[in-house]
Amino acid sequence: MIELFPDSARVERGELELGGVAAGALAERFGTPLLVYCERTLRERARALRAAAGGPVFFGTKAFPNVALLRLLREEGIGADVASTGELAFATAAGLRGEELVAHGNNKDGRFLAQAAAAGATVALDAADEAALAAAAGAVRALVRVTLGVDADTHEAIRTGHHGSKFGLPPAQALGLVAEAGRRGLDVLGLHVHVGSQLADFDAQAETIVRLAAFAARCRSELGWTARVADLGGGFGIRHHPDEQVPDAAGLAAAAAETARTAFAGAGLPAPEVWLEPGRSLVGRAGVTLYRVGSVKPLDGVTWVAVDGGMSDNPRPQLYGARYTALLANRADEPASGPVSVAGMHCESGDVLIDDVVLPAARRGDLLAVPATGAYTLAMASNYNGVPRPAAVLVADGEARLIRRRETVDDLLALETG
Ligand code: PLP
Repeated sequence: MIELFPDSARVERGELELGGVAAGALAERFGTPLLVYCERTLRERARALRAAAGGPVFFGTKAFPNVALLRLLREEGIGADVASTGELAFATAAGLRGEELVAHGNNKDGRFLAQAAAAGATVALDAADEAALAAAAGAVRALVRVTLGVDADTHEAIRTGHHGSKFGLPPAQALGLVAEAGRRGLDVLGLHVHVGSQLADFDAQAETIVRLAAFAARCRSELGWTARVADLGGGFGIRHHPDEQVPDAAGLAAAAAETARTAFAGAGLPAPEVWLEPGRSLVGRAGVTLYRVGSVKPLDGVTWVAVDGGMSDNPRPQLYGARYTALLANRADEPASGPVSVAGMHCESGDVLIDDVVLPAARRGDLLAVPATGAYTLAMASNYNGVPRPAAVLVADGEARLIRRRETVDDLLALETG
């Protein structure tokens, strides 16, 4: 199970260490719940994905908008895909500009488009009237997002490339949008697709790329316009649980780029520059959440181990039925005593982080470490039950650096006006 943890994770004298720092020391210094990111894993993933992609890579900022992380990824040559003024502000605060930015979203408003244009971002057009809005906002470069009717094997909430999806436009309308964007003076670089997230295999992506090439050929014959860029979005999965088998993202990135080149050549088109927008596969395995164990209740047939967070810092079990595993970070080498369920501290019976995990007998005060929580956890966090959102730290070479401070109840009260 240690393979689900970041590269630097190891158990020393019974205690989990991340980036050379003991989990107990991290919890003591920064409090819990705490999201711990391993710098080595982030850099290694970034390098592997870039090498495999062979073209520009943009971090899907939605997976975890954080200035320090965006800056670190930028050092590795990675740009950012942003889908709101907030994400754009995080990216520009990290120093990202111009061609390092792609602006996304199925409902971009004038303000977002103007800010994206001012930052020099490429705008991925997603609705019929967006060409006019983007041009009026001062955008220069654009992509057109097309939905090619491929059903991905993933949870329906994170499937996006099928007919009827709220994202992008079906081919006939996308073709009209390419033409309209050109008339408005935008430089339409190419086409964008995003099939879905946490994809179980390469099938849906391969099929989408083949259809994309056919659509690009149609654009060329009907409009005389040739796509120079094929932005294939994100979607590569990670293992959150030992039972999950997910192909390695770097291998998939290489396959996606190669499939695009072959499919475009097969359609009689020049090889496009392939862009990728990985989110989860860049930062997911780098992150581990540390929780403090509170009440332990042996009830009818189930032992409930409750922790000091839950659906407010990780809503994925509730949203997608996501499965996680865990280890007792302070007694990681003790023999297992049996299966338990890990409950959050929120006022919902469904606030269960892990249905079934085998641990040593857990006691109040123990530290629970949940791996593969670097993506779409803190990014989706809420203040349910008036709970402030956790802090995040970056660890490397025996040092820990705070990259997002813990929210306080005073932060929440500061929003109250009555
Ligand atoms: N690009 C786009 C347009 C997206 O919508 C998403 C996720 O929703 C991503 C990239 C990142 O996806 P993932 O985190 O699955 O790699």
